[in-house]
Amino acid sequence: MFDSLQDRLGSILNGLTGRGSLSEKDVSAALREVRRALLEADVALEVVREFTERVREKAVGAEVLKSIKPGQMVVKIVHDELIATLGETQVGIDLNAPAPVTIMMVGLQGSGKTTTSGKIAKRLKEKQRKKVLMASLDTRRPAAQEQLKVLGEQTEVDTLPIIPGQGPVEIAVRAEQAARFGGYDVVILDTAGRTHIDEPLMVEMANIKARTKPHEILLVADSLTGQDAVNLARSFDERVGVTGIVLTRVDGDGRGGAALSMRAVTGKPIKLIGVGEKMDALEDFHPSRIADRILGMGDIVSLVEKAAENIDAEKAAAMAKKMQSGKFDLNDLADQIRQMQTMGGMGGMMGLMPGMGKMKDQMAAAGLDDKMLKRQLAIIGSMTPAERSQPDILKHSRKKRIAAGSGTNSAEINKLLKMHRQMADMMKTMGKKGKGGMMKQMMG
Ligand code: GDP
Ligand code: MG
Repeated sequence: MFDSLQDRLGSILNGLTGRGSLSEKDVSAALREVRRALLEADVALEVVREFTERVREKAVGAEVLKSIKPGQMVVKIVHDELIATLGETQVGIDLNAPAPVTIMMVGLQGSGKTTTSGKIAKRLKEKQRKKVLMASLDTRRPAAQEQLKVLGEQTEVDTLPIIPGQGPVEIAVRAEQAARFGGYDVVILDTAGRTHIDEPLMVEMANIKARTKPHEILLVADSLTGQDAVNLARSFDERVGVTGIVLTRVDGDGRGGAALSMRAVTGKPIKLIGVGEKMDALEDFHPSRIADRILGMGDIVSLVEKAAENIDAEKAAAMAKKMQSGKFDLNDLADQIRQMQTMGGMGGMMGLMPGMGKMKDQMAAAGLDDKMLKRQLAIIGSMTPAERSQPDILKHSRKKRIAAGSGTNSAEINKLLKMHRQMADMMKTMGKKGKGGMMKQMMG
């Protein structure tokens, strides 16, 4: 069994609780374990190196949230970076082209191309009501064309009639013609593989591509592919050009490292995963599931997310205290705006501060949407420290300079200053209402 990354980091980092931020040394120690975990998950070495460097940059100096351990913090950073690398948004098969849309399946022998062809055909037929034609271009293995035919019968998807003696390119061209004449929406070309990457395979794939019009070229790869994943993905992408990746046998005990390797070297999205031999064992790719698999961890991520929420609540409390004292300058406003950004808009921030409904309305009235927040931060960022702490000194020439520096205009600056004044006034009033009053109520 694999130890979870958290277990391993525990001994290195747990002594550090409460130290504040992650030091270079802490991070290096942690990254040695991260590196081992990734290699055990079969992530290719060059990808591991590059990945851990990126994590290092993000982790050194990162604030360790109260109530969680530094090791957990590192796991969270690693997890987030994994998801960013794997691709946060889900990308499906692209059928956005004139019919018939050709999907070409490529990959090594036994990777699951034929099985996946059947699965995709079934899915397109059932979920998207597409009329699909499948054609086997595998003239190398004796029963390959029959294998696809059987899958077609099983899924009730048409397959191109087999004509003995034809080569792969001929079959592909015939398939596209048949699809055009037969009014098909999609034609799936199931190509032949080899046991390993070689020149004849690449030449064959390039020829098929050159003579047909594949809109999607899906590289099918076994999730158990280890260090070879990089070479595999790179070769197919450079020689044939792939538009997406399908990872098969995700139902096995592979740790999913190939997903990271292939995505990292090609930048191409993982579109689907195969999770069994049956025709409906095909799923959309969810990066977080693979990330969890790679790291072998439990619920650390949600634990850290919770801690982050608490920290935000603490910051909100500190801000409220400041308001109470009646001092609320443009630095404070910038902090506030930044927090709103990280918390997914002003709804979240205000949610932490009951009783702030009025302010929320005021900000909405001022047109505070997320794009606006960015411009406002730019304005404040273009001010001198003195201007930020004493907005009263902002006269015409200063505003002109700030407008130029922030790519905005005087009207926007005036709007921001007006909003700040209103907020500051309101806070003073609220603060004056006293200790037993509104502020106390607000902070619970
Ligand atoms: P091809 O040579 O690339 O066409 O590979 P095949 O489609 O013939 O698949 C080879 C073997 O892998 C078959 O026995 C399939 O049933 C099996 N297979 C394909 N995809 C999956 C999958 O996602 N999970 C499992 N467990 N087996 C799979
Ligand atoms: Mg096959």
